[in-house]
Amino acid sequence: MQLREDIRNIAIIAHVDHGKTTLVDQLLKYSGTFRENEQVDERAMDNNDIERERGITILAKNTAIKYNDIAINILDTPGHADFGGEVERIMKMVDGVLLVVDAYEGCMPQTRFVLKKALEQRLTPVVVLNKIDRPGARPNEVIDEVLDLFIELGADDEQLEFPVVYASALNGTSGDEPEEQKETMDPVFKTILENIPAPVDTSDDPLQFQVAMLDYNDYVGRIGVGRVFRGKIKAGQQVVLMREDGTQKVSRISKLFGFIGLKRIEIEEAKAGDIVAVAGLEDINVGETICPQDHPEALPFLRIDEPTLQMT
Ligand code: GDP
Repeated sequence: MQLREDIRNIAIIAHVDHGKTTLVDQLLKYSGTFRENEQVDERAMDNNDIERERGITILAKNTAIKYNDIAINILDTPGHADFGGEVERIMKMVDGVLLVVDAYEGCMPQTRFVLKKALEQRLTPVVVLNKIDRPGARPNEVIDEVLDLFIELGADDEQLEFPVVYASALNGTSGDEPEEQKETMDPVFKTILENIPAPVDTSDDPLQFQVAMLDYNDYVGRIGVGRVFRGKIKAGQQVVLMREDGTQKVSRISKLFGFIGLKRIEIEEAKAGDIVAVAGLEDINVGETICPQDHPEALPFLRIDEPTLQMT
């Protein structure tokens, strides 16, 4: 089995305010994915208002970070139970999760909610115990709480072996032990790369790309964001869109986008394991699969249970 060792796909999950955004910003900065003069946009991750007004929900953002020539896609995941369907769709695109827990506050309701979803999807977890700088931080106790929560939520034996990194996203420090904080994010990256499985390389099989989220932009219209599960996808390619009702629609991919940092960049081709955005399929919807015309084989449809995503 060939693996794509040049890529990792993970979802970042946490209770609100435990430091997801700060941690992702810090990883971006440390990796040098950002140029010096480029501001970390305040904050693309939270910037859904315009799309909401249009009736199209993004709700999720991919941050692509290059570290030692490995592309790490970090998908922001809402913590709130109202977005249950969305959380599941994001988790279908990744091979692992980065669970961020405040070392002072410990496990909170949204920690439990998102962790439960991740364990159900059998994803590989990495725990980041954040805010280790807080006066009164109680890392050892909180790790015990996290372990209890894993057990209570039915984690399997492998998931129970979760690795832990201790960090202060605010100060840009991390380490393998609470008291070993250094001004580096290397321990976080190392733990991700050593533990989160690389995608299986099925680039030579027929294309399957599934739309997990929608986006919109004035120039190209509706955009479908998702993972290439099999094969290769190309800009300009003629494809079929496999609908929930079993119908097929022949369409052409006008543009294909990859991600660098928080930006979307135009690319020519992507392959199994990549998370990309496709434009040109006007009435594309969440859950649908894109296939080659001579191999119309849909992935199981992804249910949409949020009313916000029902588009007419
Ligand atoms: P999110 O809701 O999970 O994205 O959380 P944010 O990244 O927005 O952080 C919430 C608050 O916690 C902000 O005020 C951050 O400055 C603060 N914060 C984040 N990381 C740390 C940390 O490592 N230490 C401390 N003391 N505060 C932090």
